[in-house]
Amino acid sequence: MSDFLDKEITYLPGVGPKKSEVLKKELNVTSYGDLLRCYPYRYVDRTKFYRIKEISPASMYVQIRGTILSMTTQGTGRSARVVANFSDGESVIELIWFKGVKYVMERYKPGHEFVAFGKVSEFNGRCNLVHPDMETINEALSKQTLGGVQGMYNTTEKMKNSSLTTRAMQKMVAEIFSALGTQRLVETLPDYLIQEKHLMPFHEAMLNIHFPQSQDALRLAQFRLKFEELFLIQLQMLRQRNVRRVRFAGFKFSKVGEFFNRFYSEFLPFQLTNAQKKVLKEIHADMASGKQMNRLLQGDVGSGKTLVALMTMLIALDNGYQAAMMAPTEILAQQHFESISKMLNGLDVKVALLTGSSKKKEREVVLQGIKDGTIQILIGTHALLEDPVVFQSLGCVVIDEQHRFGVEQRARLWGKSERPPHVLVMTATPIPRTLAMTIYGDLEVSVIDELPPGRKPIGTSHRFDTHRSVIYDFIKSEIAKGRQAYIVYPLIQESEKSDWANIEAGYESLKQVFPEPYYHLGMVHGKMKPEEKDAQMRLFASGATQILVATTVIEVGVNVPNASVMLIESAERFGLSQLHQLRGRVGRGADQSYCILLTSVKLSNDGRQRMEVMTRTCNGFEISEVDLKMRGPGDLEGTQQSGVALNLKITNLATDGDIIQYARDAANDVLDADPDLLSPENYLLNRYLDRVAKESVNWGVIS
Ligand code: ADP
Ligand code: MG
Repeated sequence: MSDFLDKEITYLPGVGPKKSEVLKKELNVTSYGDLLRCYPYRYVDRTKFYRIKEISPASMYVQIRGTILSMTTQGTGRSARVVANFSDGESVIELIWFKGVKYVMERYKPGHEFVAFGKVSEFNGRCNLVHPDMETINEALSKQTLGGVQGMYNTTEKMKNSSLTTRAMQKMVAEIFSALGTQRLVETLPDYLIQEKHLMPFHEAMLNIHFPQSQDALRLAQFRLKFEELFLIQLQMLRQRNVRRVRFAGFKFSKVGEFFNRFYSEFLPFQLTNAQKKVLKEIHADMASGKQMNRLLQGDVGSGKTLVALMTMLIALDNGYQAAMMAPTEILAQQHFESISKMLNGLDVKVALLTGSSKKKEREVVLQGIKDGTIQILIGTHALLEDPVVFQSLGCVVIDEQHRFGVEQRARLWGKSERPPHVLVMTATPIPRTLAMTIYGDLEVSVIDELPPGRKPIGTSHRFDTHRSVIYDFIKSEIAKGRQAYIVYPLIQESEKSDWANIEAGYESLKQVFPEPYYHLGMVHGKMKPEEKDAQMRLFASGATQILVATTVIEVGVNVPNASVMLIESAERFGLSQLHQLRGRVGRGADQSYCILLTSVKLSNDGRQRMEVMTRTCNGFEISEVDLKMRGPGDLEGTQQSGVALNLKITNLATDGDIIQYARDAANDVLDADPDLLSPENYLLNRYLDRVAKESVNWGVIS
């Protein structure tokens, strides 16, 4: 019976080899079970018939009963289309088809009565239905939609070409249930969970998610399936974490000693913010616990993560171990090296830098120092991961800007120590808690949610690119005050010729607006050699150039406190998190800074909304929440980081935060009571974890 869901979809009546091929290609569906897991993405009420005069562009999906008055073809070739005037006896609406002109003309004849169903769109101020679903009145009446709510399925162009429409999907799902006959789908969760959490049983949930009997039943089905999805993910993650904890004892760094204390009381030039204190307490508790720390530190740009990193590393030193810090670019590693050396000046700590461009001699000295333990803190890039880098006793690793490092790279660091070192990953791309809990379920999360005192919010404005000259004058006035500016161009795809043309033309015209010898311009972009890029960055950092024309290569962590203006060209082409990161390049000193978002006058709704959010707030968490709501989690940076496959079929990370927490707590309780899932009542869960373990590389031990 459990094999029922594994049956190949080819054997389903009405499917056959051709359709099953398309289903596999387009939806990755090969079995009955796979198809059942293709849930409707939306539900519509098919009991309601609209009157045409009730319909407005805000109506979304509508169903109209009426008669075709006339059918005409318009345009030729690729722009050929069919336009039908469709009347409900009161008023007329246009039905439009851009494809299948011949088929449509033959099939839908004037004078016949139909039920047209589709999404309302607007053209020239009038509503119409494009590619409506058409049924003859008999078809419509004979169909039984139990609760009146009907699921709409995701279908692709290729699927439609093979007649795999929403209706075909419904039919196939119905076929699966009729093949099941009087049997029930086998439950996937233990009975006690179903009872305790008041979940709808699997069979009813599947039936109702596809063919809702009522709105209430649909809600219960959705809850059940979301819970199941999230619960199983959390179970995997928490289980991996537990296994790791048992298998690898971590270093127990209970001492807070001279390095930390002297630094704190004698060297720290300012008070720690409360958020920094709180996070340091969390980190210290982890390191002293005897278990390996795996902590994600989220904090907005400028919130003082570097200092927290340094103090974390000092705890390792106090316990007789070395520490390493890894940054994604040479220039960042260099900056960390400089600022950390400066902060430690006077304290007897040996810090070294290792990057891809370290000279051979230097490199040998550093490698020797790491090996014999004379170097206590090593800062660098990916170069730290290379084989010749051997530590005497590595106790702690800090990874900056973690989204640039994958799980594999973290894993390699583990190999450099007798026991897994404590790991702190830092990111300035804040992600909402719900997402963090799902994709980094195996990491603990700390948040610095407060900026050091005295920071002025960056004055952010949105201007149309017709006003460029006013903005250039403003930049001149800032330069006259001794400040510097960034001007950023979109280079979304390195290969896009027009983007290159834009930045090059932009640079040329900027040279006219800001002529030598009064002004000095620099330029950086991704096609430059690293040395060239570094040289340009250094010129800007030293103040030798006042304006840096750039692509998003400057997005990550570069610190030039004297820069006060960030001008972003074609800002509508950037995503929110990118805009936020770019803005974070200014406002790093005590003076007022500015970010100007330049867009064309024609803006999509989406674009307008992004500009609105950026001008309203500088809070990275708020921005990331909006980003998640607007785009969904798929595109967010970092979603590929976790060792657990995140193939969410029903959960919406933006709106299902409560269920995520609920599911995580439930998974925790289950594992607390039965860590290895050996009791008979947890048999299903045990088997599930076995199955996914076989399907995926097990990053659990290393992430
Ligand atoms: P980020 O979180 O972006 O890495 P940094 O660690 O680079 O931020 O810190 C930004 C600036 O704020 C640095 O110049 C740092 O010295 C300063 N800073 C950090 N913590 C504090 C604090 N508690 N009070 C005042 N300034 C601080
Ligand atoms: Mg930083």
